[in-house]
Amino acid sequence: MKIIMLGAPGAGKGTQAKKIAKKYEIPHISTGDIFRANIKGGTELGMKAKSYMDQGQLVPDDVTIGMLLDRISEADCEKGYVLDGFPRTIPQAESLTAALKERGEKMDYAVDVDVPDESIVTRMGGRRACLKCGATYHVVFNPPKAEGVCDSCQEALVLRDDDKPETVQKRLTIYHDQTQPLIEYYKEQGILVTVDGTKELNEVFKDIVAVLGA
Ligand code: ADP
Ligand code: ADP
Ligand code: ZN
Repeated sequence: MKIIMLGAPGAGKGTQAKKIAKKYEIPHISTGDIFRANIKGGTELGMKAKSYMDQGQLVPDDVTIGMLLDRISEADCEKGYVLDGFPRTIPQAESLTAALKERGEKMDYAVDVDVPDESIVTRMGGRRACLKCGATYHVVFNPPKAEGVCDSCQEALVLRDDDKPETVQKRLTIYHDQTQPLIEYYKEQGILVTVDGTKELNEVFKDIVAVLGA
């Protein structure tokens, strides 16, 4: 099964993508996590991505598309995957569609996690991230077992630089401008599924499973 997660920054794409990956035994591919791992490791890709990310802007398509297409060509992707944070622009979506078509494949579902802008700022301010394993928490809605520490790898949790309120506003504007048109794009492909992302996170997951199948 090949799934795309759509939705604003902070809508809960990552949270749901991890649950989907576990249940359906497919890899969770987050372009944001790949970029952050590269920044942490000091790679050339990381250096290219960092300035854009810090400013809340999108990393250019020429960097992002190649990276993602390489990733989905790896052996663990044969049974499918869940994409989280890609595509984010129409050219990214078109490249993905074309690359899959060449292999006689297509995406199965694009799941739009729908959350209004008002709720996003609260969610982002409370988000805490583990930069080691990619886990995310929320100080109120999804707290870790021990405050400030990752449940799975005991790394100290951080508030991402780009989750500060002024950057969140900018990311939301870019989302509406460049990413939201993908909802229409996948609707036209006939694979769009919309879920109400304001519900409690296990409820949102139930709604997704109801469509994807148990
Ligand atoms: P969130 O989960 O809050 O939406 P991500 O971790 O997906 O954030 O992305 C963090 C940042 O990484 C983005 O603001 C952007 O700078 C960069 N990024 C991630 N995926 C893409 C992409 N597909 N295209 C361009 N930039 C991306
Ligand atoms: P995205 O990947 O779309 O940027 P995340 O999955 O990282 O979003 O979620 C953003 C923040 O909101 C995190 O702190 C997460 O724990 C929290 N969160 C996710 N889903 C819900 C939900 N349904 N209700 C409340 N908070 C949520
Ligand atoms: Zn961790």
